[in-house]
Amino acid sequence: MPSEVMSYNSANGHVVRFDGRAMLLHVPTTALFELDELGQTVIDAACSEPRIERDSLQQTAAARFAAADVAQFISRLQELGVLQVAGSEQAVNPRPAQVQDYPLSTLVLNVNTGCNLGCRYCYKEDLQTPARGERMDFAVASRSVELLLQQARDRDSINIVFFGGEPLTNMPLIRQVVDYAQERAAAVGKNVDFSLTTNATLLTPQLVAFFEAHRFGISISIDGPKVIHDRNRRTVGGKGTYEVVARKARMLLESYRARPVGARVTLTAGTTEVEEIHAHLRGELGFHEVGYAPVTSSANAAHALSVEDLEAVHAAFERLGEQYLRLAITGRNNGFSNMHQLMTDLHEGRRKTLPCGAGVGLLAVDHKGGLNLCHRFTGSELPVFGTVQEGIDSARLGEFLGRAADRSGTHCAFCRIRNLCAGGCYHESYARFGDPLHRTYHYCNLLRRWVDFGVRIYSGIMTHNPGFFRSHIETRRANA
Ligand code: SF4
Ligand code: SF4
Repeated sequence: MPSEVMSYNSANGHVVRFDGRAMLLHVPTTALFELDELGQTVIDAACSEPRIERDSLQQTAAARFAAADVAQFISRLQELGVLQVAGSEQAVNPRPAQVQDYPLSTLVLNVNTGCNLGCRYCYKEDLQTPARGERMDFAVASRSVELLLQQARDRDSINIVFFGGEPLTNMPLIRQVVDYAQERAAAVGKNVDFSLTTNATLLTPQLVAFFEAHRFGISISIDGPKVIHDRNRRTVGGKGTYEVVARKARMLLESYRARPVGARVTLTAGTTEVEEIHAHLRGELGFHEVGYAPVTSSANAAHALSVEDLEAVHAAFERLGEQYLRLAITGRNNGFSNMHQLMTDLHEGRRKTLPCGAGVGLLAVDHKGGLNLCHRFTGSELPVFGTVQEGIDSARLGEFLGRAADRSGTHCAFCRIRNLCAGGCYHESYARFGDPLHRTYHYCNLLRRWVDFGVRIYSGIMTHNPGFFRSHIETRRANA
């Protein structure tokens, strides 16, 4: 009797090869397995033909390896859904769940739509100068805190993120919110954590002391050394801002002890010098970590990275990733935050059904109290998902998230990085296609190459210094 006809399902198992080694990424669980010679032989044979009889697969490998070991490995691949009976192949995907509850952990408060700078690529549709900006008032802010406490029912901690425009242009409100949130959180037995992203220009030693006292997490938006930063990050009058930003950043970095300070770099058209930026921000200014946001879509298409720019950024990311590996082997972290996040996702076996926490654990409040998916949507044309005054519009938000999690009919359903990407950033899609649920197909190939590269780096660290994950990833989570 002929044996079962099998086929290798690349939607569930993806092999990354390098330096004579091969790692199997089990796509449904994001688990990684190193393939020994037996494993590589079986998988090579299974991949060599669209369909193969189980007996012939067994025999191919049994010439070199013990038959029982081969049979066991084939069975294991079947359990994992990597080998399936031909004709019944299925990509393993989580069943799209209906989100009915919104256990928020984080609210982003847009405390002023105004900003004191006029960066050339700014995506904020509601951006104004500080004087003309719409400021959030305390009634909206305190109502936001109440909504967060109410939605965070079972959580021990809540997070409040101050955003703008430039959040430091509304310090009176930030001070009021800190007092109010601490008092209210303590009354219901929760911790409250504060953070903000600032262009740093308005920082003073007094403000730094205030943030230190309340253990703020601080990120500074800065794009690199003067010649790069000043290309886009200018005053409203058009002057470069590097000198003031770097001076304030140095002041902060020299004195701030509450938490590590990060830098956020926006990469737009023509700005691809990632290593030079990294050497300056990490090596010279001393930021703890530097995160890069490549802009692939923009309301002004001239600001988005071109295909060639994206390739150059990816190549630079790989070179910086190699440096990350070299330092990780010696127990150090080079502060490349994008790589560190990928290492964390692989180490923890991330299984995303949604691209990010927007709309689930996190919402952003605009100055009037409207609830937006995240900070990038405040002031956009996308209708809000309720208000802090009336609560979350659960029906609309649930419908949105249900559609976001439903992969049927999309390329994501079969994609090998679907549980790491899950369809891509809603705002990138919104900026490019006017639809936050349009998948970010325009850079899928680069993302897949990035994950393959990450698998190689992960394996290198695992081989030479597995303790790195314990000391740099598990502790990071404990401190988060
Ligand atoms: S958006 Fe592209 S890379 Fe992301 S899961 Fe979908 S198909 Fe894969
Ligand atoms: S939608 Fe995009 S910008 Fe907003 S939180 Fe998600 S990944 Fe970030």
